[in-house]
Amino acid sequence: MSYCSRCFERHAIIFVSRHENGADIDEGFCLKCAYESGISSVEKQLAASGINAGNVDEMSDKIEISILENDTGPSMSGFFQSLEKKEYKPFVSNRESNTETKNKMIDLEEVRKFFEGDKYATEATGIVIEKVEKGHSVVSLEPDGRHLNAVGGLMGAVYYTMADFAFAVAENCELDSDTVTVTQATQMNFLRAWHGGKVTCTADIVKDGRFICLYEVKAFDKEGKELALIIINGFKTARK
Ligand SMILES: [Zn+2]
Repeated sequence: MSYCSRCFERHAIIFVSRHENGADIDEGFCLKCAYESGISSVEKQLAASGINAGNVDEMSDKIEISILENDTGPSMSGFFQSLEKKEYKPFVSNRESNTETKNKMIDLEEVRKFFEGDKYATEATGIVIEKVEKGHSVVSLEPDGRHLNAVGGLMGAVYYTMADFAFAVAENCELDSDTVTVTQATQMNFLRAWHGGKVTCTADIVKDGRFICLYEVKAFDKEGKELALIIINGFKTARK
């Protein structure tokens, strides 16, 4: 399942297509972001299903818990049906247990501390780890003058560093693991020009094997528009 292309925190459950510069762009949003962006095609359905500013946060949480518990995402129609049937369970106790299990596995602060050792990514470039779990990470950068090329664009190497770092964090966040995964090959695809503002990169595992793995990394601008798609092959080696 893919993450919401606006907040990168919750899973996307509402998918929309829009036409921009002659291309169809598909984007997925979580309930909260769909609501807040006022996507016209879903606005009426949300209102009819009783989603309003007062309960959109709670409903977004309930859906996320449901996705994490079931490991599959509801389709948009399935989601609205379940709303009508009021099938979502009370979420407070579930969320507590869920958070506990997750935190036990990967501690964000510990991972940040460890990856401070990636000085080129954290110090020279200024990339921040936003979120991490095994096989998934979100990193971000507030570009400044140092990151620009001669015509005011973002250097391709900035995307590369972000992607390589996001991949390394997602893959090597289990700090007590016997293996460490290194980048074997990378393919970068630049999709759209950057026009200022924070850049966010998500890394998601596509295929995990005994010795190799494949990741899909995406770079987004502050509006959630996709700037680059990076495919990374990793190779697992013994941790020294
Ligand atoms: Zn969202």
